Amino acid sequence: MNPHSPAAPAFTAPAKKQLGQHFLADRHYIDKIVMAVNPKGDDRLVEIGPGQGAITLPLLRQHPRLTVIEFDRDLIEPLTAAAAPLGELTIVPRDVLRVDFTELAAGEPIRLVGNLPYNISSPILFHALEHAAVITDMHFMLQKEVVDRMAAGPGSKVYGRLSVMLQAYCQVISLFVVPPGAFRPPPKVDSAVVRMIPRDPATVGIDDPRRFADVVRAAFGQRRKTLRNALNTVVSAEQFAAAGVRPDARAEQLEVAEFIALANAS
Ligand code: SAM
Repeated sequence: MNPHSPAAPAFTAPAKKQLGQHFLADRHYIDKIVMAVNPKGDDRLVEIGPGQGAITLPLLRQHPRLTVIEFDRDLIEPLTAAAAPLGELTIVPRDVLRVDFTELAAGEPIRLVGNLPYNISSPILFHALEHAAVITDMHFMLQKEVVDRMAAGPGSKVYGRLSVMLQAYCQVISLFVVPPGAFRPPPKVDSAVVRMIPRDPATVGIDDPRRFADVVRAAFGQRRKTLRNALNTVVSAEQFAAAGVRPDARAEQLEVAEFIALANAS
């Protein structure tokens, strides 16, 4: 069998550009995503942006209970009909950025999945971080360039605010690349699937999340400058010394743990 056989959607609807609708249409990559998620037993799976069900329906075949969050109300009726023979689909017809994952979890951790709308992928990532305590893991399709930034380490040209903010709270693992031809309509860029596993909140070690975010933002706001200059209104010479960080280093050279030490230093 051709491993890259097209996957026929259960129904079709014209793609809405403003909602970042690029529907997955390649069985090979759909199977890889479902395998990466590997749903088990009583997992509580929540998919962001099910669209025409490219990932939803194969997931439902493996795991008969699924919650999806979809902003496009035109998709709700056909999605409900396509899912009915397969399992129990709960649709939350809302903007994902307005969904309180902690409330949705209601005391039982959830696993997030989604081929995300690329135009709001960073806001979705930061929104998920705020609810990391109730999230077991996340499997997201994003622009490859964004996944590269998320997973980058010190010394890389693409290591920056997104890398540090996400890696401080989660283990970030880039899984595989997906070419534009796997989607209808094809996006202009390569995509990639990433796995994020939130760290145990007790081990993150950030005293004040807002201060940490401010330090990281200021450090990378002027990434060519030394930290002494980039952070001159945020971190004092004494705080550099207390954190054991060289003030003549640049943001792109610092490990995540050093950013945490700088933010915690008093
Ligand atoms: N999962 C489907 C697939 O792989 O073919 C669709 C993925 S498509 C890239 C992104 C999906 O997110 C679309 O179904 C779109 O309507 C939905 N979406 C866009 N903005 C959204 C938002 N703010 N909240 C929830 N869903 C949204």
